[in-house]
Amino acid sequence: MNLRAFHSRHVVTPDGVRPATLLVEGEVIRDVVDAEQVPPQAETHDFGDATILPGLVDSHVHINDPGRTEWEGFETATRAAAAGGYTLLVDMPLNCVPSTTTVKALELKRVAAEGRCRVDWLAWGGVVADNQGDIESLAAAGVPGFKCFLIHPGVDSFTMVTEPQLRAALPSVARTDLPLLVHAELPGPIDRATKDLADADWRCYRTYLQSRPEEAEVLAIRMLLSLCREYRLRLHIVHLSASSALSEVRAARAEGLPVSVETCPHYLHFAAETIPNRSTLHKCAPPIRSQDNCEQLWQALREGTIDFVVTDHSPCPSEMKRLSEGNFRTAWGGIASLSVSLPVMYTEACHRGFGLTDIARWMSEGPAKLAGCEKRKGRIAAGYDADFVVFDMESELVVTKERLHYRHPFSPYLGEKLRGVVMATYLRGTPVFSEGKFPGKPIGREYRR
Ligand SMILES: [Zn+2]
Repeated sequence: MNLRAFHSRHVVTPDGVRPATLLVEGEVIRDVVDAEQVPPQAETHDFGDATILPGLVDSHVHINDPGRTEWEGFETATRAAAAGGYTLLVDMPLNCVPSTTTVKALELKRVAAEGRCRVDWLAWGGVVADNQGDIESLAAAGVPGFKCFLIHPGVDSFTMVTEPQLRAALPSVARTDLPLLVHAELPGPIDRATKDLADADWRCYRTYLQSRPEEAEVLAIRMLLSLCREYRLRLHIVHLSASSALSEVRAARAEGLPVSVETCPHYLHFAAETIPNRSTLHKCAPPIRSQDNCEQLWQALREGTIDFVVTDHSPCPSEMKRLSEGNFRTAWGGIASLSVSLPVMYTEACHRGFGLTDIARWMSEGPAKLAGCEKRKGRIAAGYDADFVVFDMESELVVTKERLHYRHPFSPYLGEKLRGVVMATYLRGTPVFSEGKFPGKPIGREYRR
């Protein structure tokens, strides 16, 4: 088979950044070697000073396909992902119709994805109020884990679970030995706060922030950790925003509970103090909190209390953001950011003394591990899929609509100047994004465990 050699002076390997050459045979990295060890017959591509990073993995994406393709879809989400340096997406089980809560729904998703993906993908299964009997069959059919909500998820077709409903599902989940991802906010504190805000001005960001207090996250996480202890469940907290919940997580880790935590670029980049009123582009749940909270999330990343960073790419048609009214009560909560999250994270990480090995751990290796594909995805190493990003660390970009590539190209990042540009993305040895274009037919496929 033809051997290709991809060289850079900055290759991000699990042991650090160094000059190296990836020897790629077919779809797989055969070896990572020094320049002088490259066999003479290899076809060589030299990226010079541009960095080679492992392909990013996003374990938290709402593709909404099948059923809500007017919001997003496999073609547009995976195109945006390729442009952003991602090579594997894991789709959330809600917002698509039907929700991924049965094997039949998973099969429909496989049909919908066929031949339309620019990057590889997987789908989480859903745990809802009444599908306890579907959990083990979904695991056997190939989902890497499950997702549930402790609060209304924004669409009626995917039900939240109460603690008794969750308890009814947990023995099945624990038997699969797959992780349970949870949207950790309890409705009680949010309902009480919202009632008190009946007469408030919902065009003010402060009103929205007050309506989703940190207490909702803290109480949910406390309840989940006690279930984790009881059922020895592999628990994963999605999009942690409240830094006041971190002490509970630290204690749980010290106790040895199998818990992991993610946060998102928008919680690490924006701060409530500078979000303009009426700017519903910034609405997401849980909400973006204070600057001080943001710095505490960075500290938690530094010490490893937060394991990794995913986008929670959650797109919708622009009308649903109610941009003309600027009403935070009625606007859809969700931020879409697949195409720009790498430069967002790189810009912020540089300010705080982090480097590309940290980025690779947070945005590639960590999410790959959660999704159970850490043996083939998430690293530049021999035997791994030849998934990598060519990243120009020195250049800057301004976020424009043309850079977004998902179906509805709006974003709270528009107009921002960021550091680092994705020059190319390779999926299993083939370029799927290069110099602003998407060469060839879609070759992404479902990752089979
Ligand atoms: Zn989400």
